[in-house]
Amino acid sequence: MLKIGHVVVRPGRRHGDDPVEIPVPEELETVPGIPMVRKDVDFYSREYPLQRQQVEHAADTEWAPTVGTPAMQKYHHEHQEVMEQFYPLMNRSGNLPPTATPTGEDVTDLIRNKAREMGYLEVGFTAHDPRYIYQDRKDHVKFGNAVCLALEQDYAETQTAPSMAAEHGHYGTYEIQAPMGLEMAEFIRSLGYGAQVHGPSNHSAATIPMFVAAGLGQLGANGQLLTPHAGARCRLQIITTDAPVTYDEPVDYGFHAFCQVCQVCVNRCPGRALMREKIWWRGVEKNKLVYKRCRPVMSRYEGCAICMKVCPINKYGAKSVMEYYAQTGQVLGKGTHDLEGYTLHEENTGKYATGYFGPGELPTFNAEFFRIPNGTRENAALEDLIEYIKGHEGDLQRPEDDETLFNFRDRLKAIVTGESVSDSTMF
Ligand code: SF4
Ligand code: SF4
Repeated sequence: MLKIGHVVVRPGRRHGDDPVEIPVPEELETVPGIPMVRKDVDFYSREYPLQRQQVEHAADTEWAPTVGTPAMQKYHHEHQEVMEQFYPLMNRSGNLPPTATPTGEDVTDLIRNKAREMGYLEVGFTAHDPRYIYQDRKDHVKFGNAVCLALEQDYAETQTAPSMAAEHGHYGTYEIQAPMGLEMAEFIRSLGYGAQVHGPSNHSAATIPMFVAAGLGQLGANGQLLTPHAGARCRLQIITTDAPVTYDEPVDYGFHAFCQVCQVCVNRCPGRALMREKIWWRGVEKNKLVYKRCRPVMSRYEGCAICMKVCPINKYGAKSVMEYYAQTGQVLGKGTHDLEGYTLHEENTGKYATGYFGPGELPTFNAEFFRIPNGTRENAALEDLIEYIKGHEGDLQRPEDDETLFNFRDRLKAIVTGESVSDSTMF
């Protein structure tokens, strides 16, 4: 039995459940939240502000739906249709006036209880940290306090990932969570304060750092927030408000060190997109996901999400995982088909790997598989033009040259005259 360093006590899974105690072995103790060098976070956020994925990676955001299976493309449209009704309401929510006179009293418990009654799995409070706001949303965020809300994604559907059922679990959670966020904001306005909804999917900031600051989990090697009850199987949303609330503190659940022992997601990622070792990135110590190795996989194979599905904390919960580790020094489920096995269904072209992959087995892909458009939409347009020039070197007086140049101009024109970037992160 390993020596227990400290015990984390968290509210139970459902509202009204008894609290759970999570033992953290001494050898897994690091710091509450995440190791961080504050001045480096300041520097990077100032000099290299974060961009929304739809902006920084706009080129592959446009590309991704084109390589999805027909079922994914159909679902993409259906989901967009559902969400389109919510985006304007969420984006305008911060402009609505409060509907009551504020008492000035601390309303943390009122908000927490309401959220738990509504079915949110995790609720926490922290400062809405401007360093994590996306560059094109800087003027959008109205209030300084963040209510962090995590909604659990269906367990059984997620266990089938990659699959259309898991995709329905993922995006179906967004469809439930968007109106829940609007209801929460309305509740806060009824207490006499402003409230603005951010997410799911139309986020104004990188959410995970604020969820970590609010004590709701720690960053996993899969690049996702590991919450104590459901691991990364949660969808995140933030409500900013000027209501008087008490901030929570970050927590050391032992996950930061446990990931270095576990490594299941790293071993099972079909794209080899997850890194074994931690590095310092923008002022925090983390296992940095390699985006360009993930994107081609998740776009083609039903959202992939294998790194979520195989995580023992998603499957068994942190209490069971930490108790087992404390007793045995082993990772619960590691090496079993039940935890680590997955099936890749046929993708759009029928060219790439399919079938079942058990522990120790991984598909392989060629270099062409990983070739995707890079960067912003402007980058993608320029990249295509350069490719054209390279392909016709020494032969640049062709009639097609004019057409190519005009196409390039038209693509740039559409971008600079304000063709908007989607609120959706689907694909
Ligand atoms: S979604 Fe798939 S490809 Fe991407 S990091 Fe996770 S396991 Fe790897
Ligand atoms: S699978 Fe293991 S290494 Fe990966 S995030 Fe979960 S606990 Fe960490």
